[in-house]
Amino acid sequence: MINQDRIERRVISDKYRPSYSDDEFALQEALRGSLSGTSELVSDYEKALCRRFESEYAVAVSSGTAAIMVALAAVGVGLGDQVALTPTCPLCTVYPVMNAGAEPLFVDTREHGFGMDIDALKAVLSTRLKALIDIPMWGYPTEVDELYAFARDARIPLILDLAHSHGTMLHGQPLSRYADLSCFSTHERKPLATGEGGFILTDNAGLAQRCRDYSRFANLNGREFGLNFKLAALPAALGRSRAGHLPSQLTVRRQNAAFIKRGLAHPAVKEVRVVPGGSPNYYSLNLRLQFSDNGKFIAYLDEHGVPSDVKRYGCRCLYEFPAVAMHKRECPQGAALLKSMTTLPVHPGLTQDDLSYMVSIINAYEGE
Ligand SMILES: *Cc1c(COP(=O)(O)O)cnc(C)c1O
Repeated sequence: MINQDRIERRVISDKYRPSYSDDEFALQEALRGSLSGTSELVSDYEKALCRRFESEYAVAVSSGTAAIMVALAAVGVGLGDQVALTPTCPLCTVYPVMNAGAEPLFVDTREHGFGMDIDALKAVLSTRLKALIDIPMWGYPTEVDELYAFARDARIPLILDLAHSHGTMLHGQPLSRYADLSCFSTHERKPLATGEGGFILTDNAGLAQRCRDYSRFANLNGREFGLNFKLAALPAALGRSRAGHLPSQLTVRRQNAAFIKRGLAHPAVKEVRVVPGGSPNYYSLNLRLQFSDNGKFIAYLDEHGVPSDVKRYGCRCLYEFPAVAMHKRECPQGAALLKSMTTLPVHPGLTQDDLSYMVSIINAYEGE
């Protein structure tokens, strides 16, 4: 084992701001036409998203949050309804549920992953339950095939929050193929980035139309309610151009993750389990920790310039936050899962030296 004091210290950034030579061209071209959300550029972007993610329909919206709000409205979630979701996701997923006047019903995760536990879900089924949301965290697939089969049988719409999971695959298909509606964010930190923005994918023509109508004031017809969640043309132009770069970006992320995995030699640190048939996009590399005090290891990495999303966002079950505490339902597996893992950045902005440094620092840990 190398002594950690002999490793030259680095600070690893978890921020990656992509820039491409064709960004400027895309934006300059866009400036010649309409800049509103009904510009042809937006429909061109939506077509590019359909091709990229093998989807029948795409609706571009102004943020990932808007995508979830629109999806909930499209499946008819309103005042007094229940929406089941796992509590291990960011606050960003639950706030739109609360904003719709619905009650978030926390359902535990599986033991070895962030997917919703179907047995736990069965225990809370009722006629008030109007939608399910599954949230694959950090780009690792969950068992959405099984959940979608269950949801269809139970006739409850399944929404996926894929804000981390652009390009994540299960059994050779994008995760979005296993849901009624899939919500994405294109915030600057996400694998496909337009600054702010989001989109919804679906193969269901009726749901696509409801999403489009709702995000355009229901076309101001005065019969149906809606709001304005349209994506503006400039971020759409950027997104259309950048969607083409996504595959090569994900290749670099996968290579970076593979390099780190090959180097890991500490017996208490391994990649988390990947579901059979699944292929993460490596938004982050997730590590399963088996120390007696995992928090101490995460703090050690942080002191050595290696950031963790678990630390950065203070990840814990959502009902532990005061703003959500009134919806508390203990989810012991989800809580244990969050305590047993950490994330490592593997974005394309990292150098080979950064990657080697992270491996050395992990392998040099002397704690128990
Ligand atoms: C980022 C994020 C959101 C919110 O997306 P915005 O575009 O920031 O509104 C929702 N859910 C998850 C899981 C996210 O990571």
